[in-house]
Amino acid sequence: MGDRGRLEAAREVLGAYFGYDSFRAGQEAVVASVLAGRDVLAVMPTGAGKSVCYQVPAVVLDGLTLVISPLVSLMADQVRSLKEAGVRGAYLNSTLSPSQQGEVLRRASAGAYDLMYVAPERLDDPRFLAFAREALIPLVAVDEAHCVSQWGQDFRPSYLAIGDFIAALPCRPVVAALTATATGRVRADIVRLLGLADPAVTVTGFDRPNLRFAVERHEPKRKLARLDRFIDERRTESGIVYCSKRATVEEVCAHLRERGVAATRYHAGLSPDERESNQRAFVADDAPVMVATNAFGMGIDKSNVSYVAHFNMPGSVEAYYQEAGRAGRDGSSAECLLLWCDGDIATGRFFIEQESSNEALTPEESEVVRAGRRRMLESMVGYCYTTDCLRRYLLRYFGEDGESEGGSAPDPRCCSNCAGQFEAVDVTAEARAVMRCVQALRGRFGKTTVVDVLRGADTENLRQWGLTGLSCYGSVDAKRPLLLEVVELLAAGEYLAITEGKFPVVGFGPRYREAAEEDFRLTMKQTPKPSRKKSALRE
Ligand code: ADP
Repeated sequence: MGDRGRLEAAREVLGAYFGYDSFRAGQEAVVASVLAGRDVLAVMPTGAGKSVCYQVPAVVLDGLTLVISPLVSLMADQVRSLKEAGVRGAYLNSTLSPSQQGEVLRRASAGAYDLMYVAPERLDDPRFLAFAREALIPLVAVDEAHCVSQWGQDFRPSYLAIGDFIAALPCRPVVAALTATATGRVRADIVRLLGLADPAVTVTGFDRPNLRFAVERHEPKRKLARLDRFIDERRTESGIVYCSKRATVEEVCAHLRERGVAATRYHAGLSPDERESNQRAFVADDAPVMVATNAFGMGIDKSNVSYVAHFNMPGSVEAYYQEAGRAGRDGSSAECLLLWCDGDIATGRFFIEQESSNEALTPEESEVVRAGRRRMLESMVGYCYTTDCLRRYLLRYFGEDGESEGGSAPDPRCCSNCAGQFEAVDVTAEARAVMRCVQALRGRFGKTTVVDVLRGADTENLRQWGLTGLSCYGSVDAKRPLLLEVVELLAAGEYLAITEGKFPVVGFGPRYREAAEEDFRLTMKQTPKPSRKKSALRE
């Protein structure tokens, strides 16, 4: 059968087995590549329909398609619904007894299945490896492929075995890697570590035209009042309020209830029973407002969520977009508001330094993971600071170009930046001064010291370290908060890098050289609009 004939067969399978009229954007390109024998890297957001990309070829192709997935707890369900659709599926993981596993392998050898889900840990199992060497495997699909990268959010050492496994098969299958997460670095890791051969790369489905994005910065004590106004404008609607800490969830939920909002809550500190009943109340609209940590949302399919408000900045753009994306599932317009303050950045850094004590990792690997997370956080901070279109920022982050056609005037319905809800302030001169100061301090001090030196503060600390004699000492006449923000903004742009350990220090980031170039400009966004005197430089 030619490529075209196979694609035709794939369309038939899509209708006959899965009941869909047509492939979605991206799906067809992936299926066509796979059927033409070319490796693929498909980057699509959750819910875009990645499963079809390997399930349909599994039916069309002769032999057994292997799907490597870390989501062991979902495999039984996935196989059940495949069977209901008439697809001959199976799974192999640690929830099966050794004799059940043997039975699955025996049946697979006899050609009983088109598709088999396996956990990556199986690739260590001699029985499975012996089976795989004998079997006809036309396609290996690697789901959640970002797990192979230490630069991603969910690094799994067991994923590192996949590349060798594929290379050792007597007949090289087509490899399809699928993920919802892919910064450039993660993507490069996927291609390299899985050994993809000249893969067709497809990035689609990230734009959600019915979502409007807004970012606002508020003092911590003003956030609640802002949230109140936001919710009051939407009293009849259902929404989710995400907070970064359990205590904040409790506080915000109690506050909303006191104001007569039918809110409920969800976080990992509640009993499983309470979590379940709160979730049910939310889905049934008995409590249309859900206040939650990021523990909430996986697998929730509530179509009428018309806003997602973030009370704190999340740790990555991936996390943000996934959470915000729970709004507007029914296609009607929905609002995604992010409220943030400086403290959120510090909390994010703190989480990174605290959390990554994954036992499976060596200290060196853990440090690589942390470095990856720091960069992810900086991109999130960049989202808060950008004066560019927020939608475009998000789409570019995921690798879609995000250019609107025709270059028409910004549409205020797109995002708060397109609506011009900020004042842009040029802080290039301050930024240059900060870069000079960081160079003079040789990356050994924290941001407070950087700012103190620039402002010429008369402190014991500076005298003690001999910093009062530096040429940049007292070179800038600007308010402390403004300079601190310039430091953060430079870190978000990767001109600087900040580590938040016991003694956080500011050093140069990977793009530091660009800040010394003549056309370097830095603008800062101010929301809401306070009156601000332009800071004057003393040089
Ligand atoms: P992902 O793995 O990317 O998160 P899924 O494969 O679970 O997404 O698919 C998400 C939803 O989209 C499912 O409910 C699925 O039935 C639906 N879907 C997938 N492909 C199509 C299609 N071509 N037409 C209509 N619905 C589809």
